[in-house]
Amino acid sequence: MTDAARPAGTPERMCPSTPASNATVFLGMITPAGRVAYVTPAVPAEVALAGLGDSDEPIESRARLAGPCVTSSCGFWTGSHCGLGARMAASYAETAPPAEETLPKCAIRRTCRWFAEQGPAACPACAHVVTDARL
Ligand code: SF4
Repeated sequence: MTDAARPAGTPERMCPSTPASNATVFLGMITPAGRVAYVTPAVPAEVALAGLGDSDEPIESRARLAGPCVTSSCGFWTGSHCGLGARMAASYAETAPPAEETLPKCAIRRTCRWFAEQGPAACPACAHVVTDARL
C-alpha cells in the first residue's frame, strides 16, 4: 500500500529486511552463528551504519535493517501482502505460534509488515534472515 492509499491513522508498514539504501531503523547485528541480535529501543539506521565501519562484506550480511515497505516495488510483494513474510510463517506452520512474551525483542513490532500480516508466527524465522541487497 502506498502512503497515499493508506487510511488515516494506519501506521506505515515497515519492512524488517530491507537493503541499506532503504533503511531507516537498525534492527540488530548478525552474529557469527547467523542469528540476529536485536537491538531495542530503535536506533536510526544512519547512526548504526556510521559506526559499523568499512568491510569487504556487504552491510546487509553483517546487520539487519528495516525501512518503509515499498510494496509493489519489491520482488516479494504479491499484490496484497509480503510473500517473504508468508514464507517465514509457513516454515513454522507445523508448530504452535509462539507466545508473545517469547518473541524477539525487536524495535519495530508495532509497524512490522510481517507481524501485521502473519502475527507471531513470522517472528521465529525472522532472526535467521539475511537480507539480499539485490532485491
Ligand atoms: S521479530 Fe517479528 S515483529 Fe520483529 S521484525 Fe521480525 S517479524 Fe517483525
